[in-house]
Amino acid sequence: MSVSPCDIEFDRRHIWHPYTSMTQPLPCYPVVSASGVELQLDDGRLLVDGMSSWWAAIHGYNHPHLNQAAVQQLEKMSHVMFGGITHPAAIELCRKLVTMTPEALQCVFLADSGSVAVEVALKMALQYWQSRGERRQRILTLRHGYHGDTFGAMSVCDPDNSMHSLYQGYLATHLFATAPQCRFDQPWDEQDIVPFAELLEQHAGEIAAVILEPVVQGAGGMRIYHPTYLQRVRELCDRYQILLIADEIATGFGRTGKLFACEHADVVPDILCLGKALTGGYMTLSATLTTRHIAETISNGAAGCFMHGPTFMGNPLACAVACASLSLLEENRWQHQVAAIEAQLKQQLLPLVVSPKVADVRVLGAIGVVEMHQPVDVALLQRGFVERGVWIRPFGKLIYLMPPYIITPEQLTRLTAAIAAAVE
Ligand SMILES: *Cc1c(COP(=O)(O)O)cnc(C)c1O
Repeated sequence: MSVSPCDIEFDRRHIWHPYTSMTQPLPCYPVVSASGVELQLDDGRLLVDGMSSWWAAIHGYNHPHLNQAAVQQLEKMSHVMFGGITHPAAIELCRKLVTMTPEALQCVFLADSGSVAVEVALKMALQYWQSRGERRQRILTLRHGYHGDTFGAMSVCDPDNSMHSLYQGYLATHLFATAPQCRFDQPWDEQDIVPFAELLEQHAGEIAAVILEPVVQGAGGMRIYHPTYLQRVRELCDRYQILLIADEIATGFGRTGKLFACEHADVVPDILCLGKALTGGYMTLSATLTTRHIAETISNGAAGCFMHGPTFMGNPLACAVACASLSLLEENRWQHQVAAIEAQLKQQLLPLVVSPKVADVRVLGAIGVVEMHQPVDVALLQRGFVERGVWIRPFGKLIYLMPPYIITPEQLTRLTAAIAAAVE
């Protein structure tokens, strides 16, 4: 299948892409196949992928084990409703999720995307308090957070980006604490938790839950913060009986060097959101896990059940691929792979900090971030990257990498060299 100039023109005129204008669309590059760590363009050029298709394709593309799982499931059934029906792929997946996450998280809700997993988590928290006969409807979160694009998720994203101001008056108004300032790799300063603690104490009686991205704030700024911050949040939530929702949609499944980022702080959330890499980037699927206590409290409330149930809940094809992806993770090669990527990113990206145009460089696990002083010209940089045979998509002031775990040192060098050249 090839893409003609006429197809590109159709795309430009008729198809929305993420966060793009229909009057001044930025160029889109036609990809016709992908294998391993490479995307193949329509004209035959191969690009080394530094994005994992937004944190998802951790095992690379066209993986034989994942392909096989998809084909085998397809031949049995690609979908069946989840209301009143269950199936082996969902059972195996949820058994794996319950096993690999902290012991306290026992009950799994499967949904179709990360944003919906966040909606589900927020609804669980609200229904929990309703069942307990307490009116608690506010959520406390951190500035620079990102939790998705649906209305509930948007209401807990950073309030100063345009999404929020655009929908002001329509969105629920929640509480936003100053984002953590202490970096992951620097000493902890007890002052860092004070703004969060003050806000929490002032509003303790109305707060249903805290939601945050543990250790790495992703799309809201790629900020990497001190794990002790997370420990303090857990302690405060315990003291005031507030639920803690960990949004590990971006950080889950090894990306930060731990299977889940909460492990950096030895913290167990009450509700955990997973998505993105759950199916190794093959299909859209997410999961929200919670404790038996919360699940039972919700179920014993006036509603008598948890009020959510998407049409494609527990899609067998997605569940089967997710099982295959998790079994690859269970082989434990990811730990060595992510550690090697971290070492190489540190070696090759940290020196860029001397450039007068670079504000900061930070690395954790298979995440490397170069923050510029000025916002970058995305279209211009992207064209340069494609000409150098790499796929890197910057946003705002950030040029960053989160490659598939199977990337070779040579491929990773091509990515970091391209960033070094772009910084020039
Ligand atoms: C991507 C992301 C989401 C939203 O997931 P979608 O699948 O895009 O809806 C939510 N939270 C975090 C931390 C994310 O990185």
